[in-house]
Amino acid sequence: MTADSSPSEAPRRAGKPLRPLDEALAQLLGDTRPVCAEQAECLPLVETLGRVLVQPVVSLIDVPPADNSAMDGIALRACDVPKPGAVLLLSQRVAAGQVGTALQPGTAARIFTGAPVPEGADAVVMQEECEFLPGEGGELGSVRVLAEVKAGQNVRRRAEEIAQGATVLQSGCRLNAAAIGLAASVGIPALTVARRPRVALFSTGDELIAPGEPLPPGAIYNSNRYTLRALLDGMGCEVVDLGIVPDQLEATRATLRQAARDCDVILTSGGVSVGEEDHVKPAVQAEGSLDLWAIAIKPGKPLAFGTVRRPATVPADASNEGEGGAGEAWFIGLPGNPVAAFVTFLILVRPFLLRLQGVQDVAPKAWKLPIAFDWPKADKRREFVRARVGEGGRLERFANQGSAMLTSLVWSDGLIDIPAGQTLKAGDIVSFYPLRELA
Ligand code: AMP
Ligand code: MG
Repeated sequence: MTADSSPSEAPRRAGKPLRPLDEALAQLLGDTRPVCAEQAECLPLVETLGRVLVQPVVSLIDVPPADNSAMDGIALRACDVPKPGAVLLLSQRVAAGQVGTALQPGTAARIFTGAPVPEGADAVVMQEECEFLPGEGGELGSVRVLAEVKAGQNVRRRAEEIAQGATVLQSGCRLNAAAIGLAASVGIPALTVARRPRVALFSTGDELIAPGEPLPPGAIYNSNRYTLRALLDGMGCEVVDLGIVPDQLEATRATLRQAARDCDVILTSGGVSVGEEDHVKPAVQAEGSLDLWAIAIKPGKPLAFGTVRRPATVPADASNEGEGGAGEAWFIGLPGNPVAAFVTFLILVRPFLLRLQGVQDVAPKAWKLPIAFDWPKADKRREFVRARVGEGGRLERFANQGSAMLTSLVWSDGLIDIPAGQTLKAGDIVSFYPLRELA
C-alpha cells in the first residue's frame, strides 16, 4: 500500500501507541528471506498459474517470426497499384502455415490472415476491397484492387512485437493467463517458479462450531477458516488446515509445534486481543517470540507477528538461519472478527506471502475513482471502506461497515483506502483496491 500516512495516523489510545500500517508492513516485510524463491522448481506451463517466476523469460524467437498478413485478402507490391482500379494476375495462394514463392512484379498472391507475406510483396489489401475475376488470367484468375494501397499496410512485420533474446517476463512476475500465454508464444515449454508457500492455518475460540453442526447457545459458526483457506488457495499456497484449536494454552502450544514442523508460515485468527481468553500470545511466546501490534487501521487493529521454533528438526547448536529459515516458522495472528481477518489478510499477509516467493512489488495497485458519498467525520485510523462501483463509475459504500459483517464484503467490489484524519465530499477522488485483483 502506498504511504497515505499523516502525523495523525499514529495517535495514542489508552496509552498504547497505534502503529501506522506502512510501518507495520515495512517491519513485516523487513528482511524476510524469499525462502520459496530460493527453492525454485521447474514446471510445465500448464501447472504455473498463480506461481511466481524466479528467472526472467527470454524469447527464443522473433515475434512474429516472419512478415505476415493481418487480413484475408491479397499480397502485392504497392507500386503496382498507382491508383484504385488496377488489375493484377493472381500468381499463387498462401494459406496460414504455408510459405509462398517470390512475388513477380505485376502479380498478386491470394493470402489469408497469419500467412507469411511472399518475398517481394510489401502490402496486403483486404478482400472486401478486391474484386476477384475468376475467368481472367491463369488458373487462379485475376483481381481488381478497388482501394488505394500504401506500402506496409496490413502487414505485421517480423519482430514487430518481440525480438529474439528480448526479456518478455521479469523475475518476480506472478503468472496469470496472459503471462503464461506469452511464454508459450515465444516457444518456452516450462518455467522456473518459486515453490508454493506452506501455510498452517487454525482458528481459535471455544465459541466456534463447524458449519453443518447444530449451533448451541453462545456459539457461532467458524467462517474465518473458510475465508482464509480460500484466500490462501487463491494465492497458490499449500494449506495445512489444522481446524479449530480450543482456548487452552497447552493445546495451542502443541498445535504451534506441529504446525512449525514443516510450514513456512502459521496463520491464525482470533485470540490476539488482550482478553483473558486469548491464549495465542503466551503460547507463541513459549514456543518462540511474538510482537503484538495495534495497527492504526479499521477494520483490523490487533495483529500478532512472531516466530515459532522447529525443535525437532534443528539441533540446539545448529546455526539458526534466521526467521522462517530452517529453525523457525513465521507466525501471523489475525483478528477474529471476520471482516477484520479478511482485510488484514489482504493488506498484510498477502504482501508477505508474495515476498516469500520473491515478488518485489507487493503493493496492490490502487485505482483512482470518485466517491458518491460524503465522509464528514475524520477517523484516527486509516480506514478500508467496503464499496462497490455504482452508476457512472462512482463508489458507493456499504451502509454498515461493522467488522463482523461478511455481507459487506460480498456486496462490495473492493476497498476504499481513506487516510487517517481525512474528511471527504462526494466527487472527491480516492484510492480503491478492487477485490478481484486481491482475492
Ligand atoms: P477474538 O479476536 O478472538 O477476540 O474474536 C473477535 C470476534 O471474532 C469474536 O466475536 C469472535 O467470536 C469472532 N471470531 C473469532 N474467530 C472467528 C472465526 N473463526 N469465525 C468467525 N468469527 C470469529
Ligand atoms: Mg477469541
